[in-house]
Amino acid sequence: MVDTHTQYHKIKDEVDKAVIEVMESSAFINGKIVQEFAGNLAGYLNVKHVIPCGNGTDALQIALMALGLKPGDEVITPSFTYIATTEVVALLRLTPVFVDVDEKTFCIDPAAIEKAITPRTKAIVPVHLYGQSANMEAIMKIAEKHSLFVIEDNAQAIGCNFHFSDGSSKKTGTIGHIGCTSFYPSKNLGAFGDGGSLFTNDDALAEKLKMIANHGQKVRYYHDLVGCNSRLDSIQAAILNIKLKHLDAYCKARQEVAAYYNAAFSGNDKITVPYKADNSDHVYHQYTLILNNVERDAFKDRLEKKGVPSMIYYPLPAHKQKMFAQFDVANQELPVTTYLTDRVISLPIHTEMDAEQLAFIKDAVLSAL
Ligand SMILES: *Cc1c(COP(=O)(O)O)cnc(C)c1O
Repeated sequence: MVDTHTQYHKIKDEVDKAVIEVMESSAFINGKIVQEFAGNLAGYLNVKHVIPCGNGTDALQIALMALGLKPGDEVITPSFTYIATTEVVALLRLTPVFVDVDEKTFCIDPAAIEKAITPRTKAIVPVHLYGQSANMEAIMKIAEKHSLFVIEDNAQAIGCNFHFSDGSSKKTGTIGHIGCTSFYPSKNLGAFGDGGSLFTNDDALAEKLKMIANHGQKVRYYHDLVGCNSRLDSIQAAILNIKLKHLDAYCKARQEVAAYYNAAFSGNDKITVPYKADNSDHVYHQYTLILNNVERDAFKDRLEKKGVPSMIYYPLPAHKQKMFAQFDVANQELPVTTYLTDRVISLPIHTEMDAEQLAFIKDAVLSAL
């Protein structure tokens, strides 16, 4: 599904040198490379503050912790997402409110958000699923109207631009009050271990996020808030600092794979190729097909036998997960979520695919259908 090994070998000399520099400096935690990377990422994203942390799940948790919410406050999120998005809501004793996604973009449906708002609603967590932005223009309008916070889960879409109707554009993760991302190795900007980051343009929130990620302290050993310990280590920052320079090229490589697949598959009525909305770029963290009247497990097995891996992201939507049984939401009707959960399948997509591999996968998919 990914090939981080080949990707590493293309930048090996630079990466190895940077890692050795960190080891020689022995500044493994909070080395100056961490701030250097944060500054470079802020420049790339055109956002005022980048606060590195331990992983993408921590980023989401820290973001919610900074909002001053009370137990039972409601947070609206899609059910069709990776579990981290919704898990942190329950972890903080907040109430997740699951809503449906748009059938074309697979991202949270603004109309469904509006219907789910109650007097207890405090925040919305849109997910830029598979590498395409949710409709942030509509979501920010709803949030302003109802005075809600917006925390963007940008773990799958770093490098993606959202295009507003006035012609302006912003990077995903910099549009809401706080953006969160993950540097998990297989993500579009992946470290060689765990890592994550928060983004914000709000000075007061930035200070709070920084404190929460660091045991609630601004002055060492004086703890003003209950926080946690969540850090990006210097070795990961050094690697990410190099990979950041390649991020646009990495996104382009993924887009080229997607264009190849689209051309190969769009004529086939058994599969629907990913839709790309006009208001968003697509950085194809995943290339996800919808199967039409194809038995998915059998199709997946046939692909496997031909040597082509595939994945189901995600086989069980959040609202049906046992961890949320206490909220009594398993029987909630989310028709698009159910439809997609039963039919999606993701093909290999990464930055190192060559023409031979693509042709091999294309042939395997078409014959396995
Ligand atoms: C990967 C991912 C996360 C969590 O990131 P980790 O670094 O693995 O904690 C959160 N949300 C989404 C949508 C993700 O894809």
